Amino acid sequence: MSDLYRCYAELAASEPEGTNFRVHVVERNSAIVIVAPHGGRIEPGTSETAALIAANDFSLYRFESLIAGRRLHITSSRFDEPRGLALVATAEIAVAVHGRADAGDAETIWMGGLHIDLRDAIGASLRRAGFRISTDHHMQGRHSDNICNKGGLGAGVQIELPRSFRNKLRGDIHAREGFASAVRGPLKQWTHERLFFECERPDKSSRELSSIREGAHATPAVRDYGKDG
Ligand SMILES: [Zn+2]
Repeated sequence: MSDLYRCYAELAASEPEGTNFRVHVVERNSAIVIVAPHGGRIEPGTSETAALIAANDFSLYRFESLIAGRRLHITSSRFDEPRGLALVATAEIAVAVHGRADAGDAETIWMGGLHIDLRDAIGASLRRAGFRISTDHHMQGRHSDNICNKGGLGAGVQIELPRSFRNKLRGDIHAREGFASAVRGPLKQWTHERLFFECERPDKSSRELSSIREGAHATPAVRDYGKDG
């Protein structure tokens, strides 16, 4: 399905912000940012789900269409809304939450993105929590320009939720909290391991260590950690 708009500038020239769409940005100075580039009525439920995953820990970006249908959909590898790109650039990793059509499978969560380790850690956590996941599908999120891969590491995670699954989450608080918690677990663990790794490095100056402990942004040397091939 091709998009009406090839980039945000085209969209913004025709669609009034506040009437046809809105943008939410919450910066929490975290190494991970949760994004919903197709929120609101484009892929219903993704904006709310992204906020649940972010909770009070991770930065959060949401682009929400206020009009029906997919007219404001800009595909992930072309999604260049400036506030979204700016927030993602502050983080090491972006985790993008999307909605897919059921296409004959109303339950399976499709996992993608270039950060394979984190993708698989989230997938395993979701499985343990009783959810069905797959990495064998056609929405791999592996384009380097995909917004999920535009954090400092150049590799992130993409989560595609079937329409029926999103509807189920909306009406079922236990499923909703179970899902968010299963995604958040590996994200929090990744954050902690990253801090531990950096603090253990013998060549770190005390100034760099203290800035890491205070949660400041990574130095260029830090950015190599965890990078995929
Ligand atoms: Zn999407």
